[in-house]
Amino acid sequence: MSETGICPLCEQQLSELLSTTDRHGRPLRTIICRGCGLVRIDPMPDSGSLNDFYSHDYRLQYKGAWHPRPKHVYRDTRGAIMRARRLLEIYRPGMKVLDIGCGGGFFLHLLRSLSIDASGLEPNRGYADFARNELGIDSIFTGTLHEYAPDNRFDIVTINHVFEHLPDPLAALARMRGLLKDDGAIIMEIPNIESTSHAPNRIFHYGHLYWYNPITIHALLQKAGFGIADMAVARGNEHINLVIRLQPETEATALGILRGMLIGNYHRVRAIRDRHTRLRHYLSRAPYRRILGKCLQYSREFLATWRARSPRAIADRVCQAAIPELRRRILTGAEAAKHKSL
Ligand SMILES: [Zn+2]
Repeated sequence: MSETGICPLCEQQLSELLSTTDRHGRPLRTIICRGCGLVRIDPMPDSGSLNDFYSHDYRLQYKGAWHPRPKHVYRDTRGAIMRARRLLEIYRPGMKVLDIGCGGGFFLHLLRSLSIDASGLEPNRGYADFARNELGIDSIFTGTLHEYAPDNRFDIVTINHVFEHLPDPLAALARMRGLLKDDGAIIMEIPNIESTSHAPNRIFHYGHLYWYNPITIHALLQKAGFGIADMAVARGNEHINLVIRLQPETEATALGILRGMLIGNYHRVRAIRDRHTRLRHYLSRAPYRRILGKCLQYSREFLATWRARSPRAIADRVCQAAIPELRRRILTGAEAAKHKSL
């Protein structure tokens, strides 16, 4: 057992080694807290080296490019449509939206095509410049969440596969609280430490500083004074999708209550991770389904992009096909809200 720092969730010093390598076989210590089941990398990098990593290296290391490649433009725009469907469940005309970690700006591009007032925040200069120059999005701040100081607050803040990259999740939630109107909502998607869709040696990497399951993310949000309006675990990849709102009472949940919520969670997470051996994984259907899915995805991406004139043309074509359906969702939502208020 290693005693390396206090757990930010249960505030106990009870960590134990979970993994010693990253998904590429390079050394990376990942620990699990015996007090609550929160998983994190150890030691936690300092914010200076993380800022350098995200402003320069991250996308290059993660996607192998300074700018989104055509296949990423296509993939991310399709992902943006799925995200827009979730957003439109709570969006009402006139609301202001902020996307934290907006990458190449495909989600913003889609929202702006729907006449939604949407801004973004992206620490990586290459991707932020791409969004500005290729997609013409001028409402992007290049920098970190803590450097961002907009004039107005937002009705909806979205944070998609970004929260797990933040070194101080409670400080990040406090910052997000300051960006949000009192009746606003956060839409968050994060990976799930309970997922068995990847091989057990292909999970951890330097970018993901924390790994949550539905129980630890729930407790962390409560600790920060937020409540969960909706939580769903996606089929297949088991990602956790959340709609989060401020608690009516501004008091954050007391530590003793949180520790009570977390009893047994360490054993749950440890058992899931220990059961998911490489042998079990390759004897299951998951890896073969994944390979087949990837083959179909790569072929579709190649066919959709190989003759495209520009990244913008790819994004526009994918967006245009979805816009009539998304517009109907805005109208249906507005109608439902009108009936509710009558
Ligand atoms: Zn803990």
